[in-house]
Amino acid sequence: MSNIKFEYREATGHVETLMASTEAEAIEEAKGLLRDGDWDTSKGTVWPIAFVVEVEVDDEGHEVDVDHETVSVSIDPPEPGCSEGAHDWQAPYSILGGLKEDPGVFGHGGGMIIRDVCAHCGVYRKRDTGARNPVTGEHGLGSVAYEDADEKSLTWVHNQRKVRAPGGG
Ligand SMILES: [Zn+2]
Repeated sequence: MSNIKFEYREATGHVETLMASTEAEAIEEAKGLLRDGDWDTSKGTVWPIAFVVEVEVDDEGHEVDVDHETVSVSIDPPEPGCSEGAHDWQAPYSILGGLKEDPGVFGHGGGMIIRDVCAHCGVYRKRDTGARNPVTGEHGLGSVAYEDADEKSLTWVHNQRKVRAPGGG
């Protein structure tokens, strides 16, 4: 008789024995562990990966890896706070460029990059509909990144306020 157990292994060397008794459960459990991890999303969405390894343990306690699956999850960066509580995402041509009728949208090989900027605080958002997981090579993933406001966006925000101000027109 031999027993099967499932292990979670990260590239960092971190290993945990999973509670799961089937591979499907083990994959779900591993995704949960990945989501709970502390990943650096300062440059945008990341796709950390781990292996779920099926380990056979015989009567004498010898362990043999019999199968493994790669597990990956998508971790988006938290949305930065806004001076007005919630961002007002807009796509002004003067800031973002691109096509006049579709500012801030840029096609690339696998999808589109969509940039916009908050009319309250000037923070930039960049979404990529065709991002690629650098580890697994998987294409067509959605990613998001935020960039700090700069002089250009803050000037635009300031000018928008003037336009909107009551009695200012
Ligand atoms: Zn904002």
